[in-house]
Amino acid sequence: MPAADEIDAPAVLRDRLRKLGLERSDDLVLHLPLRYEDETRVTAIADARPGVPLQIEVMVREVSLRLAPRRQLLVQVADAAAPAGSLLLLRFLSFYGSQQRAFETARDEQRRLRVFGEIRDGFLGLEMVHPRFRVLTADAALPQSLTPVYPTTAGLAQSALRKLIARAMKAADLAELLDADWCCRWKMPSFAAAVSLLHSPPPDVLPAALQARSHPAWRRVKFDELLAQQLSLRRAYLARRRKGAPLLASGGQLAKRLQAVLPFALTDAQQRVAAEIAADLSQPYPMQRLLQGDVGCGKTVVAALAVCQAVEAGHQVAFMAPTEILAEQHHLKLRAWFEPLGVEVLCLSGRLGAGGRRAAQRQAAATAELVVGTHALIQEGLDFTRLGLVIVDEQHRFGVAQRLALRRKGVDPHQLMMSATPIPRTLAMSYYADLDVSVIDQLPLGRSPVRTRLFSDARRDEVVAAVRAVVADGRQAYWVCPLIEESAKLELQAALDTYAALSSELAGLRVGLVHGRLRGKEKAAVMAAFVAGDLDVLVATTVIEVGVDVPNASLMVIEHAERFGLAQLHQLRGRVGRGGHESVCVLLYQQPLSASARARLKIIFEHSDGFEIARQDLRLRGPGELVGSRQSGVPLLRYADLEVDGDLVELAQQMARQLLRDDPERVARHLRRWQGSREELLKA
Ligand code: ADP
Ligand code: MG
Repeated sequence: MPAADEIDAPAVLRDRLRKLGLERSDDLVLHLPLRYEDETRVTAIADARPGVPLQIEVMVREVSLRLAPRRQLLVQVADAAAPAGSLLLLRFLSFYGSQQRAFETARDEQRRLRVFGEIRDGFLGLEMVHPRFRVLTADAALPQSLTPVYPTTAGLAQSALRKLIARAMKAADLAELLDADWCCRWKMPSFAAAVSLLHSPPPDVLPAALQARSHPAWRRVKFDELLAQQLSLRRAYLARRRKGAPLLASGGQLAKRLQAVLPFALTDAQQRVAAEIAADLSQPYPMQRLLQGDVGCGKTVVAALAVCQAVEAGHQVAFMAPTEILAEQHHLKLRAWFEPLGVEVLCLSGRLGAGGRRAAQRQAAATAELVVGTHALIQEGLDFTRLGLVIVDEQHRFGVAQRLALRRKGVDPHQLMMSATPIPRTLAMSYYADLDVSVIDQLPLGRSPVRTRLFSDARRDEVVAAVRAVVADGRQAYWVCPLIEESAKLELQAALDTYAALSSELAGLRVGLVHGRLRGKEKAAVMAAFVAGDLDVLVATTVIEVGVDVPNASLMVIEHAERFGLAQLHQLRGRVGRGGHESVCVLLYQQPLSASARARLKIIFEHSDGFEIARQDLRLRGPGELVGSRQSGVPLLRYADLEVDGDLVELAQQMARQLLRDDPERVARHLRRWQGSREELLKA
């Protein structure tokens, strides 16, 4: 006996439905059509436009089987209404004997056929290939609504899906959960009206509005979906907020001492977000804050101030970076800042060692005031004795799943996530609704904008000469090797080749190479040499993509720039222009450029503002890629499109806050309708 809301169907069918994420009747109600076919009208063959799906009503003239060049079934038909009129050939390349017999019987018994498909000009005149057809009984009325076409999976026919959905629509609870005047004010139909219309639209609904999903019924469904997303993320946020966290109140002495030794003054934006973070840390519940700011805006020092507050309050801090190189960089920088202040900094990038070394590392981590490392810090399950704050740099590289995993660990430390991939506002409001967000919207003074130049590969010599010129000026340069997504081995080879070529082209200069296959120690040594100015040119794979900070570097060359994504190009470009020197980023590309590569290069050439680039990226690629949430467990939006439906995100956010405050019962019902069991994932 299936549970009340389980789909009542044979087990095989239920398995296939499950593949589509359909488990309950409610899920079927929300399984909405991709498009529609208009079977409410019959078109005369003579009026048919080629390439447009349409329905005709015909009589069979002739049925024949052709064997060469390929076995096929040919059925000659004519309009039933004007049998003397146009002829049409139905062609089937794969068919059953029963289908052939059906046509023959229709011919012999003079029955009408209703046929749906696209007409095209074939070799033997007008034809339809593999149309859908039905032999009519005497009084077959035309359907009164457009025929929905649903997303489906192998072994699940549209007709079966339609039946199940129609049945679910009758059985399901379509009760209205929003206030009538609200719906009226925002010109949205009721939930029941919206889904009924989308599953079986009357023939006079504009198909274009349905297809473009701008019809009010679609807006209503998208709103409900966004509302469910807001409710579940916000509820998770509130739940975590009810947990306890160490109070990191401090006199701010350590922070003052750090600021006194910094060679620069904080920007207004840095001061503002530092104050927001300081306020969070002195609350008795865990901070869950995302610190966003374009590459180079100075997030690290803001994080360091938070470290001061935690350490001064007697707690430990774990500082995580997505790569070993970056962890090592942070380690060097933080140690330079903190050791003079008497704060002990431990670096654990990479995996922990074995045996005795491992035990020693674990022991050190248990008590060190600041532990810097990669995500191995969580994976290794270190026992911090007084963990008060976790800082995650380049958070977008970790993915939402890790963000959740981290929170589930034992005590609830405060959390500061940092991201240099600026997230467009609507995206932040939606996928990051479970975080508070601070934004650094200002670069330190004295930065000169990086000039971006596009060079075709044919002009590589000029670029090599530019590297020499930069080095002659006392500056340093990065040369980023081609990205080869399909194969790490080929990518490594390309890097070795580039290195060999440049070493001879730049004879006399000190050229180093860093790539992902180097061991942690070797990588660190090369980076340290570049930081110290012992190398003039650093040939690198994208291991340097994020976070690396060498202010004296003023030239960035990216080879085969057309292969990189927008966020990557922006990140790479952000490696230069950090020291107040006039800086240049050269994008070397190879002809011919695909349309999308051309679009990307144009965007990166024209824009330097990371937020604008991210917005364009969202337009090109959709949100899934940007938030890295494909494998995350946070449901991707199925219907709402953040680029188009930004206004709905805002409405949904307001409504979510109001409902969570006033009406937990409706919150629960709405979430049950939209997420059923899937919602468990978010109860961190
Ligand atoms: P990101 O936000 O990309 O992580 P970083 O924290 O690496 O940026 O900072 C980039 C560079 O700017 C570093 O060399 C840092 O020391 C420097 N910096 C940070 N804040 C300021 C400031 N207020 N004035 C001048 N330089 C700053
Ligand atoms: Mg950084």
